[in-house]
Amino acid sequence: MSKKRVLSCIQPTGDMHYGNYFGAVKNWVDMQSEYECFYGVVDYHAMTMPYDVKKLRTNTWELILNCVAVGVDPGNLFIQSLVPEHTELGWIFNNFAAMGRVENMTQFKDKSSKSGEGKDGFISVGLFDYPVLQAADILIYKADYVPVGKDQSQHLELTREIANRFNNQVGKEYFVLPETSYTATPKIMSTADPLRKMSKSAGEKHYINVFSDEARIRKQIKSAVTSSETKMSQGVINLLELLKACGHPDRAQTLADMEMAGTLKYSELKEVVADALVEKSAAFTARKNELSQDKKALKNQIKESSARIRAVAQNTLKEVKELVGLLNVKF
Ligand code: ADP
Repeated sequence: MSKKRVLSCIQPTGDMHYGNYFGAVKNWVDMQSEYECFYGVVDYHAMTMPYDVKKLRTNTWELILNCVAVGVDPGNLFIQSLVPEHTELGWIFNNFAAMGRVENMTQFKDKSSKSGEGKDGFISVGLFDYPVLQAADILIYKADYVPVGKDQSQHLELTREIANRFNNQVGKEYFVLPETSYTATPKIMSTADPLRKMSKSAGEKHYINVFSDEARIRKQIKSAVTSSETKMSQGVINLLELLKACGHPDRAQTLADMEMAGTLKYSELKEVVADALVEKSAAFTARKNELSQDKKALKNQIKESSARIRAVAQNTLKEVKELVGLLNVKF
């Protein structure tokens, strides 16, 4: 029996943070032994918000390096612009996506309000349409499972709706309806503001870089917002989640019990969490330094894996064009 398929992607928009890692990328790594996996660094998506053209390519290679440093097999990685079939399927899917549903995506509302804060208030059509391209990213590999953070659940729902409409239109169950796979910690919050998710777009204090140095991690955790007025405030819950995500669920439970009993000292909680993150980041950074010795070899590997993965995408696109009445001609 052939293995079930997994697809997930990440945008080259800057540092990889612990929200990305504990919410999604850790699952990418864990699922590799059991499934056939396709993991994309999605540079077309990174163009949907205002960005620096001089930095996009370097950010893309840097994120490839980061993914491999945290344990993603380079054989499973591809760069989206090396598989341009994603965008062609995205266009086809524009015609199977309901306008009203795409308008309702909360990520678009969040990101467009941030994007609109820029100099000229410019919001691109690409930003509006990116969940449709995301549906193409997923369905072009006929993925069964999509390991993502909780913030992506609405986009996955839209992907299933597009697949369904497509299947109905062509009169067969061509696309598998993909399911999300969550880690035990699918929503990591900002330590500086535990009511909002950890993310790059809110600024540097709102995320912890996976490759951060010890001093910075300790500083960020030390200044994490906690409230002693209520038991189990969002800030405390988030610190306990981070500890659990670092592989210490029992310790997190003991500390949670102490919090309920009113005996937990937040300075101690913060120290334990900082120690766990420092240990993780040190291991990731050491691996990244090793890999950085031969970036050229890694680049070549990724070009090869992208070419191999592209063949899968090309095959789906060919079938799709056949099904929807477009031409397939070899010149
Ligand atoms: P970002 O949200 O930082 O711009 P991406 O959009 O590239 O990053 O998301 C990459 C993956 O990381 C997605 O699967 C997303 O759901 C996940 N992710 C991002 N932020 C968080 C978070 N705070 N908690 C859990 N998962 C997250």
